[in-house]
Amino acid sequence: MNSRKIAAIIVAAGEGTRLPGSCPKAYRVLHGKPLWRHSYDVFNMHPAIGEIMLVVNPNHLSQGQPLPVGEVTYVEGGKTRQESVAKGLKALEEKGTTHVLIHDAARPFLDRALIDRVLEGLEQHPAVIPAIPVKDTIKRMDEGRVVTPDRHSLCAAQTPQGFRYDTILQLHKKYTDRHATDDAQLAEWAGIPVHVVAGDEANKKITTAEDLPMEARTGMGFDVHRFIPGDSLRLCGVDIPSNVKLEGHSDADVGLHALTDAILGALALGDIGMHFSPNDLKWKGADSIVFLRHACALATERNARITHIDLTLICEKPKINPYRDAMRSKVAEILNLPVDAVSVKATTTEGLGFTGRGEGIAAQAVVTVLQQFRIPAILSLWNR
Ligand code: MG
Repeated sequence: MNSRKIAAIIVAAGEGTRLPGSCPKAYRVLHGKPLWRHSYDVFNMHPAIGEIMLVVNPNHLSQGQPLPVGEVTYVEGGKTRQESVAKGLKALEEKGTTHVLIHDAARPFLDRALIDRVLEGLEQHPAVIPAIPVKDTIKRMDEGRVVTPDRHSLCAAQTPQGFRYDTILQLHKKYTDRHATDDAQLAEWAGIPVHVVAGDEANKKITTAEDLPMEARTGMGFDVHRFIPGDSLRLCGVDIPSNVKLEGHSDADVGLHALTDAILGALALGDIGMHFSPNDLKWKGADSIVFLRHACALATERNARITHIDLTLICEKPKINPYRDAMRSKVAEILNLPVDAVSVKATTTEGLGFTGRGEGIAAQAVVTVLQQFRIPAILSLWNR
């Protein structure tokens, strides 16, 4: 089998219109590199793969999507995926290719073991696809009638699909007038048996924003307010009887301010003062719950979900313990979180510093946010 000359074609010419944003899908940046580059690198590291042919959309290049010059061999694709693959195959003619793996750039989580399984299948078979079992019960709509095919006879096809080079080249030349959604379909039409190897659940195709991985982000907040004479102070939305209160433009709820800042931090949206200016009379005496709700709404707008908060109140007085559960419940209610996702801790500074002297309270918050990975249309990250 050492005489095999194996090439890989990565199809990266699609528009990916089901993803939000205007950047073509193959050029969206995921974990610091464009989508196409993920599978490219895996093929490139594989010792059995020689040539790698990237099939690109010429419109994308003319729109300024960059390719690393001199590093990547590419060919311009056609109007459909099928035409693009055909052009990729043609570009490999005269290169002595014996086998080819055809892969969609939209599947960036390709791993080497999957390539190995397809290559192993190709030792015996002219056409090999990786596939995974279908978990849902699939329904077919047949002229208004719903039909349930046996789930065990169904599987979901993935890429890379492997072929003997001459076979798939001829098939693409033969079926230019029919529309196939993958390359194995051409083999099916020609009556060529397609061998199935185990696919990989992780080898997902990115089609809509929901297919993008979740990204965990951490935000940190810190705040201090000073004591002045008063009869009650508010901490984490809970009123505590006291002979002092906290001084501030708003209700000076130092706990909620630190927490609001931590959420803004996780979203990289600046700090509380940028959203609620202390010079704005509107916020004079304001209930800080408004600030926290605003930060929470900004998270929701961005498809980000706050999953955990950890807040530390630093003071000699008041004693936090009697109010801890009320504070946790209040914050959990505002953020629509289970109470066990809200931690409120307290500490003193052993009599040291301004908190030790009882001049005020400091608060620290750490927030964890889960966000659907937002692939930015910025390419300079990797193209250096
Ligand atoms: Mg403050």
